[in-house]
Amino acid sequence: SGSVELGGAGEPIRLERVRKEFGELTAVKDVSLEIQSGEFLVLLGPSGCGKTTTLRMIAGLETPTDGEIYIGDDEVTRMLPQKRELSMVFQSYALYPHKTVRENLAFPLKKMDLSSDERTRRIERAAEILEISDLLEKQPGQLSGGQRQRVALGRTIIREPRAFLMDEPLSNLDAKLRVHTRTELRELQQNLGTTTVYVTHDQEEAMSVADRIAILNDGEIQQVGSPEEIYQNPENEFVAGFLGEPAMNFFDVSQTPEGVEILGDDPVRLKGPIPAPTERIGIRPEHVAVASQHSAEQARTSAFTANLLVIEPLGNAYELELERGGVQFTARVRSLPDEVRTAETVDVFFEADSLNTFDEDGVSLTT
Ligand code: ATP
Repeated sequence: SGSVELGGAGEPIRLERVRKEFGELTAVKDVSLEIQSGEFLVLLGPSGCGKTTTLRMIAGLETPTDGEIYIGDDEVTRMLPQKRELSMVFQSYALYPHKTVRENLAFPLKKMDLSSDERTRRIERAAEILEISDLLEKQPGQLSGGQRQRVALGRTIIREPRAFLMDEPLSNLDAKLRVHTRTELRELQQNLGTTTVYVTHDQEEAMSVADRIAILNDGEIQQVGSPEEIYQNPENEFVAGFLGEPAMNFFDVSQTPEGVEILGDDPVRLKGPIPAPTERIGIRPEHVAVASQHSAEQARTSAFTANLLVIEPLGNAYELELERGGVQFTARVRSLPDEVRTAETVDVFFEADSLNTFDEDGVSLTT
């Protein structure tokens, strides 16, 4: 509703060459990152890549070995967590069962120096935003699961923090509630305009909530960009291979006098221009098309044949495991004609403009 008065906009957060060593191990390696005011930024990467450590340094729960952290204009690198005015959202959504919703919402305000008018204002504002105004005098036991969750969220926003920090906040929920709650969380964050840093290893979750995603691997930022940017224009092989399910196919490339070839034991020449320093190409499974041999499409010269090893139905698509010259790769197709379903050998096409090219260091050459 347009009548809700929102708190101040979120503040930018800046990391400058932030480093964290645990003894011999460097968990975070000189990470520089600017999170804009009001932005929803997701830290995404495999287990152990340093996501949680990065978030904990922003929160003040770990001290960087080197580098600086800023919230707004304030350097906070060594500031106590409770002085940073951030709100950390954890996995569990615990409420006090014998307190009313109003008392549950009031609890995080206890330690803050606020007038009673200001307390009331904040409780009513949070309740209005979360549409739980008519539940304020009830106890958690009288609420549905979804309502309880909104009360728990209310406890996070009521302090009107400078930013939200969230570490896998949905991992305790079942799959359906997780999808529902992440949509609510995103809507709430947009309404409030509060800067949010969110840690997850779940790429689908990251894609669905983020303004921008920072991909981390082995303590280093690999790429920062919108979900579309990092999916469509990965800057290196790690990002290309990490995003997407099933994963991108990679092929080693050999440059021959006749042209650029892949699948060395049973070579296939690639059509179209391939940048000279290309060492590997990548193609997403959804850009690999398949037809039965002897079909009309066989006339297309860019096709090559491959053995069809496995068909896995996915409900709305099929995943095909293919093989040529001892190399296996994957196609994801929407439909599967009967001729293909029963074939041992099929024609394979790479869709135009769908190749990603990488140099010997795994850096993308695709522009
Ligand atoms: P996950 O998704 O599994 O939680 P992560 O990306 O959040 O992983 P971190 O928890 O930040 O990774 O850990 C990064 C690295 O630092 C890991 O190798 C981890 O074992 C190590 N590490 C984290 N905290 C400590 C600590 N207090 N002492 C020693 N090593 C630590």
